[in-house]
Amino acid sequence: MTTIFKFGGASIKDAEAIRHLGKLLAGSHERPQVLIISAMGKTTNALEALLAAARGSDESDYRQRLQALRNDHLATVEALFGTQDNAVAERVEALLSDLDACQRKYRDAERAHHYDRTIGFGELLSTTIVSAWLNEIGIDNDWHDARQLIITDATHQAANVDWAETSQRLQALSSKRMGIIQGFIGATAAGESTTLGREGSDFSAAIVAHCLDASEVVIWKDVPGLFNADPRRFDNARQLMQISYDEAIELAWLGAKVIHPKTLAPLRERQIPLKVRSFKTPDAAPSVISEQGDDDATPAYILAEEQVLLDIQPQDFSFMDEPRQHQVFGWLVDAGLHANLIDGGAMRLSLCLDAHPARLEPFVEALAADYDLTRHDDLTLLSIRHPTQAQLDALSAGREVLAQRSNAFTAQRLFRRGECPETWRIPDGRDG
Ligand code: ADP
Ligand code: ASP
Ligand code: MG
Repeated sequence: MTTIFKFGGASIKDAEAIRHLGKLLAGSHERPQVLIISAMGKTTNALEALLAAARGSDESDYRQRLQALRNDHLATVEALFGTQDNAVAERVEALLSDLDACQRKYRDAERAHHYDRTIGFGELLSTTIVSAWLNEIGIDNDWHDARQLIITDATHQAANVDWAETSQRLQALSSKRMGIIQGFIGATAAGESTTLGREGSDFSAAIVAHCLDASEVVIWKDVPGLFNADPRRFDNARQLMQISYDEAIELAWLGAKVIHPKTLAPLRERQIPLKVRSFKTPDAAPSVISEQGDDDATPAYILAEEQVLLDIQPQDFSFMDEPRQHQVFGWLVDAGLHANLIDGGAMRLSLCLDAHPARLEPFVEALAADYDLTRHDDLTLLSIRHPTQAQLDALSAGREVLAQRSNAFTAQRLFRRGECPETWRIPDGRDG
């Protein structure tokens, strides 16, 4: 039985969490073949801020951010290993000085290239610490560099996997000892660092599972499984125990943040089940995503915040016909944007997009010459799988709907954030 485990940032956020992870593995009857690990806590966000500082002109801001990363990681090392054994601290220091050197080398390079050189240090640091800790407590493992195993093309920040080369390299690893591999990162065959997209460590676990033809993947989260809504935002969300790959792909695509959308296809292709379980309550029954979908018809709710609505109208009052749509979507693709909702009419196209200033600006600029634009900011998109009309009415009551879309399986409603509650409630049987 070849099992792949993936632990995300929350499960290794500090020394206490890493100790807990060690106990969880020591007490588990299954020993994974490979452990995929993300960066500790919110390190990736901190690295994005470091990158912005490196590209800006405020040297002291940059230094402070680098120092904060250093302090966090060294404090974890010290809490785990004490001050005597400096071997791990030395490796962490060496990685941090590589990180610093990369900033000097790439700060004037193309941003996406600089990004991929920088951002993976979170995973390099975390795996160095976790691997050493597990060896320390008798859970023998080998640390591997994902940049020599997960081989991709050079599409920075959203690299495409070279499956044949990656399979060959992963299959050459020893199956006798557990391997620890960074999530989220890879490299081209020529050794240029790449990343798979934010939150991409789930996808890394699926890549490794696919290439090793694993029997199952377990992603360990701070929630006991996949729910029919984010349990942080819906006070009566409930766990879905058995979901099909197809339904889980739909939920992830609509923005259910618990699983990266690219994770499921490589698993479905090899019929490898994915279990979502909690590192906080490891004995609780997990959600299982496989061919079987007992809970597929359960209504599910997905919130996407920080949305922008662009209403696009040709300035010459012509139709928003196929050539015009082709032109607009071409610019959308060039800007690296994804339309979360598409609505329209004869002379209008409405697009709901993530508020991503660096991507929106070039898109808006391209449109401005030929189109009149109306823009609404600070919106919340609610997507519902398998809704009933009564549920939709209950969830929309008292709120202006700025755009909407419905088909047989999914309904979407765009609201002003200011008109939405902080915590939602799924309508019960009487009102839904
Ligand atoms: P990781 O540590 O692996 O990066 P994430 O933070 O990406 O974990 O995912 C776990 C979080 O996903 C949970 O804390 C939960 O608030 C959120 N979440 C969003 N939608 C769902 C859902 N449908 N089911 C379960 N959790 C969800
Ligand atoms: N550390 C990366 C991120 O925060 C990848 C991941 O956690 O999945 O996006
Ligand atoms: Mg995540």
